[in-house]
Amino acid sequence: MSYEKFVRTVVPYVPGEQPKDKDIIKLNTNECPYPPAPAVKKILDNMNYEDMRLYSDPEASKLVEAISCYYKVPEDQIFVGVGSDDVLSMAYLTFFGSDKPVIFPDITYSFYDVWAELYRVPYKTIPLDDDFMIPLEKFYSENTPNGGVIIANPNAPVGIFEPVSKIEEVVAHNKDSVVIVDEAYIDFGGESALPLIEKYDNLLVVQTFSKSRAMAGMRIGFAFGCKKLIKYMKDVKFSFNSYTMNIPSIEMGAAAISDDKYFKETCAKIVNTRERVKKELSELGFSFPDSKTNFLFAKHEKVSGEELFNALREQKIFVRHWNKDRIGDYLRITIGTDEQMDKMIGFLREYLK
Ligand code: PMP
Repeated sequence: MSYEKFVRTVVPYVPGEQPKDKDIIKLNTNECPYPPAPAVKKILDNMNYEDMRLYSDPEASKLVEAISCYYKVPEDQIFVGVGSDDVLSMAYLTFFGSDKPVIFPDITYSFYDVWAELYRVPYKTIPLDDDFMIPLEKFYSENTPNGGVIIANPNAPVGIFEPVSKIEEVVAHNKDSVVIVDEAYIDFGGESALPLIEKYDNLLVVQTFSKSRAMAGMRIGFAFGCKKLIKYMKDVKFSFNSYTMNIPSIEMGAAAISDDKYFKETCAKIVNTRERVKKELSELGFSFPDSKTNFLFAKHEKVSGEELFNALREQKIFVRHWNKDRIGDYLRITIGTDEQMDKMIGFLREYLK
């Protein structure tokens, strides 16, 4: 007898590299180049290590309260998890149980098909159009019968933001499925679909502290939905692992939310850098969709994506590149500090001469 046939096999998601060398200009995983809010440091400095003896609050109440206050959403309409990856994974497990396929774009966050494989949920991808826009009407249930919808807005890795009015149409045209809107990059110039949770009981809006709140390492994600959706997710979560959020993440997450001025300044700095880098990359012969995120998805008119990826890497500048259909010539470049971007542009200017 062999156990092999009972093993849950899955091809895992491959995250961007986390190199140990601190000299590397790290523009490959869309982290924030600035530190978290000063209020977070205060909590860290004053944290009592003896408290780690205790289990954390399974409800992560302090964090949920802070999110509730900031976004003006009742606490029972908020779910928190270990990064938005955890929140999304729990949402799949909770809502995507139909034998009809879950649908998402062909070019999008590459975890979406992994969760479908992991949970043995059928799925179908819908191709982006030639400009990398999501053909949203194809996501209406009458056009593609489905057991769930997941859309990243802005979409990754392309960076394009779809207006909330168009997202609303997708939600309205999928009354019998849960529609997840993954807003990991919403704070860099997009507009959240959050207000729609009052109107639609099939909408889950997911966000993260990893990008705009500079806390990727603390692993904090959250979701908004109607009371019923959140209750269903919590029932699954509490059947899986009660103590997902650790004590430092709960405390520091709540502190980060309290410093709105710092948050807004950080986002504004990244947006300013992004807009400047757009101009400079264009002058060097790059083109890209109009990003509303903290990254650019850029392609050079003459030099291949792979060559540029390797050339940058030799200079200790890490960006992301996928050897995949349609996107093999693109680099996904995270917006770093002005100084980091100057170094990258300086090198490209010389290299492309
Ligand atoms: N959604 C999208 C579109 C992402 O790019 C990422 C980052 N890899 C995530 C979700 C997950 O981020 P985190 O788990 O750090 O919140």
